Amino acid sequence: MDIKNKHITILGAVRSGIAAAKLIKKLGGIPFVSDMVPYEKLSASFDVLTEAGINFEAGGHTDKVYDCDFIVTSPGVPSNAKVMVEALEKGIEVISELELAASFCEGDIIAITGSNGKTTTTMLTAHVFNHCGLKTHLAGNIGRAFSDVVLEVKKGEVVALEVSSFQLDFIKNFHPKVSAILNLTPDHLDRYGGSFNRYSEAKLRIFSNQIESDYYISNDDDLKLSKSKGKSSARNLTFSVKHKIERGSYLNMDSFVYANDNTEEIICSSSDLSIRGEHNIANALAVVCFAKIFNLNSEKIKEAFSTFPGVEHRLEFVRKVDAVEYINDSKATNVDSVWFALRSFDKPLYLILGGKDKGNDYSLIFESVKQNVKKIYAIGSSAKKVSNYFSDVVDVEIKETLEDAVQSARKEAAENSIVLLSPACASFDMFDDYEHRGKVFKEAVMRLPE
Ligand code: ADP
Repeated sequence: MDIKNKHITILGAVRSGIAAAKLIKKLGGIPFVSDMVPYEKLSASFDVLTEAGINFEAGGHTDKVYDCDFIVTSPGVPSNAKVMVEALEKGIEVISELELAASFCEGDIIAITGSNGKTTTTMLTAHVFNHCGLKTHLAGNIGRAFSDVVLEVKKGEVVALEVSSFQLDFIKNFHPKVSAILNLTPDHLDRYGGSFNRYSEAKLRIFSNQIESDYYISNDDDLKLSKSKGKSSARNLTFSVKHKIERGSYLNMDSFVYANDNTEEIICSSSDLSIRGEHNIANALAVVCFAKIFNLNSEKIKEAFSTFPGVEHRLEFVRKVDAVEYINDSKATNVDSVWFALRSFDKPLYLILGGKDKGNDYSLIFESVKQNVKKIYAIGSSAKKVSNYFSDVVDVEIKETLEDAVQSARKEAAENSIVLLSPACASFDMFDDYEHRGKVFKEAVMRLPE
């Protein structure tokens, strides 16, 4: 992509927008950053831009936005935002930050998307690859933005890239060597006019520019995804925790098996994996596919699986008090994640559920709650809905605050049980974000007396 002396508008002045602006400036382009949010709320961002000598505006988009060769958009800007609609009407090309960064990438990209498990899988990928001696950078939705990392990536190195569907909305030539879709379940439908098909199509765009020498990895246990196989020109490897796979990886009893047509290799056993739950076995099987594409050593892969420290706020062990374990799964912002969380433990659960509801259908977890949950503490703006839905099958108590919920659970949870925060909801009714919610939970747990 030639950006020298080009005027480029960047929409969104948070992490990826700032990284894009700095990358453009470094490569000789002329960036201009515009954000809806008032200046006061983004002053830290604008300090960075001022220091870098980059022009910006805040508190709304003026016509200056359209005075450019093309626009780079951040994942936080919805495609139906007025500024986007107007730009497209004016015939201005809009690309995502992902597209911009990828066009300058000299290494091999492993692009990972899906409704759940992106961060865990991307971090596990970087951990395994680096442990096996293949230098791998972590970028995308987690850690640093791709635009921030891309110039550090040398030929022969790898980028493990977490990709959200929003970033795929505006790609043109984005071409990863390996693409992966971990699963497809309804989430963020608000951004796609309530249409699951449109959301799925956005995800499938991840392989739209791949060619025969590339790889597309998909989850064979996901009905929607198993239909996507023929749509990609890349070589397809699949993974499954349920059945045998011809080309890809699968769980056979307790073993992780990698299959390549007629040959099979046992990589490790599921007990070698440091993170728990069937969903994490699926994530790790995807990583086995990536690792084998790059011919990484199986013994080393096994070692790396066992030393992976896990990811904060995802089924994160916090503390054990009087034989009760406290687990922080604040990142479980949809019902599907909670379904997996409930299946990850074989002890009675005291579940903290609720928050800002995104139109949740709780029927998916009804049976698991009935079987495994002793009591629900319902919090946040959806507390009443949670209570109405579950109170016939399990004891439900509405709690004003997360701290109250933790304290009640401390009093009521029986020995050898688990107190689990896995809210199935967004956090914005009570907290800044899921990280803030997880932090408040952990602090409340750490304050509990022995
Ligand atoms: P993402 O980045 O896609 O949001 P995370 O790795 O941050 O995914 O995990 C989000 C939530 O989903 C956590 O509660 C986690 O335990 C759960 N989770 C992780 N992997 C999967 C999976 N493969 N399927 C369903 N839920 C998952």
